[in-house]
Amino acid sequence: MQEDRDQDPRKIEFFRHNVGPEEQEAVTRVLQTLFLTAGPETAAFEKEFSAFLGDVHSVGMSSCTIALEVALAACGVGPGDEVITTPMSYVATSNSALLLGATPVFVDVEPQTGNLDASRVEAAITPRTKAILPVHLYGHMCDMKALAAIAQRHNLVVIEDAAHCIEGVRDGIRPSQLGAAACFSFYATKNITAGEGGMVSVRDGDLMARLKRLRNHGIDRGAHERHQGGYAHWNQVELGFKANMSDIQAAMLRPQLRRIEAMRQQREVLAARYDEAFSGNELIRPMEVLPGTVSARHIYPVLVPPESRDRVLVTMNQQGIGVAVNYRPVHLMDYYRQRMATHEGMFPNAELIGASTITLPLYPKLTVDEQKRVIETIARAVEDG
Ligand SMILES: *Cc1c(COP(=O)(O)O)cnc(C)c1O
Repeated sequence: MQEDRDQDPRKIEFFRHNVGPEEQEAVTRVLQTLFLTAGPETAAFEKEFSAFLGDVHSVGMSSCTIALEVALAACGVGPGDEVITTPMSYVATSNSALLLGATPVFVDVEPQTGNLDASRVEAAITPRTKAILPVHLYGHMCDMKALAAIAQRHNLVVIEDAAHCIEGVRDGIRPSQLGAAACFSFYATKNITAGEGGMVSVRDGDLMARLKRLRNHGIDRGAHERHQGGYAHWNQVELGFKANMSDIQAAMLRPQLRRIEAMRQQREVLAARYDEAFSGNELIRPMEVLPGTVSARHIYPVLVPPESRDRVLVTMNQQGIGVAVNYRPVHLMDYYRQRMATHEGMFPNAELIGASTITLPLYPKLTVDEQKRVIETIARAVEDG
């Protein structure tokens, strides 16, 4: 599994997935069936995923990026509309608004969690605002109660980017339970993965039906329904995307969904060990998990002094430890600077996180010894400056 013979055996990967014999068997079983694309396996996974979140409907997609686009489109977001979102995310979040001809309007984040700061959202609302697009960053849910209340007051929809957060809970609420829709990712490094894949979960049955149409060109029946029974004419009733999940992806994801909480708990143990190790260290500050929340513990970022951050990244890599930066803020990417005239100084909290953050390895296959080496290496690197 996951062999890479060129690698130094002492290398500590940034991520190792948890795909094993169960997933291999499930995929083999699907490969022996007639129907490889969205069919019975996708339907079963959608049902199981919905049950995990609560009383919702889920629609399988080919990625979270397209899931965000389809969800925004299904909620009526299009050219000329504004979508309030966070600069502290992967570019997919705001790109999904741009790809629909809408304009992302960035709002700064909370310094302690990196999440969209709900108390700043109302000041960014204009007559063109259609949606709020928060990200449950690192697996820690945003203040959905506050965001849902703002959305209700101003007649907006909340679409949650829950790519990091299948398992998170806050105020007893999970993703999709207060927003109009929540979008999830099964990309290669996410908590459960099919290499690629996505999901939209919603409470509204009509919205679910629209999502199912829009993931398949706006055609009134899915491929599997068209296959069942004899030939019957089908019809395109609106303009949609090609965005459906396949049964091969769904087969890989079903066993992982059954292990998802056990894997989260393993990451929780690792996170607690990191927290403990850094608790007396003034130069290494973990991102906070607020009381009353269950973090999905997707990744483990720490903040280090910004003047030494890039040197620490290099040292970690030289010592064979995989690290990442989640994220350099979107408004400072060249494309956004040019298109939207964004610049340094606009979102100081996001910019400070972007300049200070390093993400450390966090996955069930990380051993105690490996984690010790990560801790010792970063502590030494930060001290050296
Ligand atoms: C991974 C990720 C996405 C995109 O997911 P894909 O499935 O790769 O399209 C979107 N938003 C965030 C916050 C992500 O981390």
